[in-house]
Amino acid sequence: MKKIVTILGARPQFIKAAVLSRIITLHNEIEEVIIHTGQHFDADMSAIFFAEMEIPKPKYNLNINGIGHGAMTGQMLEKVERILLDEKPDAIVIYGDTNSTLAGALAAKKMNIKVIHIEAGLRSFNMNMPEEINRILTDRISDLLLCPTETAIINLKNEGFFNFENKVVNCGDIMKDAVEFYSKTSADKSSIIDNLSLEKDRFILATIHRQENTDDLNKLKSIFEGLEQINKQCKVVIPLHPRTRKIVEKHNLSYDITTISPVGYFDMLELLKKCKMVISDSGGLQKEAYFNKKHCIIAREETEWIELVENGFAKIVGSDSIKMFETFNSYQNSTADFSKNLYGTNVGENIYNEIKNILK
Ligand code: UDP
Repeated sequence: MKKIVTILGARPQFIKAAVLSRIITLHNEIEEVIIHTGQHFDADMSAIFFAEMEIPKPKYNLNINGIGHGAMTGQMLEKVERILLDEKPDAIVIYGDTNSTLAGALAAKKMNIKVIHIEAGLRSFNMNMPEEINRILTDRISDLLLCPTETAIINLKNEGFFNFENKVVNCGDIMKDAVEFYSKTSADKSSIIDNLSLEKDRFILATIHRQENTDDLNKLKSIFEGLEQINKQCKVVIPLHPRTRKIVEKHNLSYDITTISPVGYFDMLELLKKCKMVISDSGGLQKEAYFNKKHCIIAREETEWIELVENGFAKIVGSDSIKMFETFNSYQNSTADFSKNLYGTNVGENIYNEIKNILK
């Protein structure tokens, strides 16, 4: 049996991996060993996803967190290399754009182990984002680049990737499968709507955690002021990322919005189903809003998911509270048609088949 090592570290990676691990287990043709680098470690940022989404237990927990980017990537590189020496996998699978992604890719590539990158080709064209650096470097040393969109394919084409020794394929976006699969049971498994006394279409779901927002106090304050303004018309619910909570507490920021702890995926899906719209700087949430036929106001200066903006489903407002409020108003009575398929079908199976092929 062929063996892959999957390297995970952050919340969105757990959610994406849940989809593929389930398919790998079902087919029973490939052995999967999971390494958890420990980048996200709070129970509500990690353990809850493994439990709720029945992700196989990691064989290795590296517990690397709370340190700078360089130290974190370096420690991960060293420890992942040691594990790969023992496990001798045929390939590694990595997701997205975190330090865990880059460290995994580097460790494997230098040992001539095949690197499979899920969510390849995404670009924000903002080199101040740590994620952008991680993505570009990871893509360059990946053997199988599984792209979520045509935009991602075009990005790679423009960077000359079609002249390199690799395989680039558009398999669709794996988050689509996550939303479709787990939405079927989320209502039975979540009571968040009742617990928070929320009413359908009468609240806004917000999340803010990008470093470019949390590390700039003026930006962060402006975003929260925008949310507070909107909250006067429509309740704003924000599950607060630990990074954002830390800054909010440090500066004693206080706003009239409903702040809750990070929630599990079933709660998130119920919030997405019932909310009126989404305001977020998260990559994943922009698409999850779309899959749930909701508009998303993007609290960033750019997005990797440009097709959402081009088709009128999402709008970029940065940290501008006035633009945020205006966009909220313009989306109030929207009759947008969300039936367009931007992110593929049967994504998990497409990805699985590509992985199987490269392992032959
Ligand atoms: N998410 C969650 N609980 C929360 C906030 C987010 O389950 O309290 C999910 C969200 O639905 C999405 C993923 O986490 O699937 C997005 O992760 P995040 O925003 O941390 O990262 P990004 O997508 O920006 O890389």
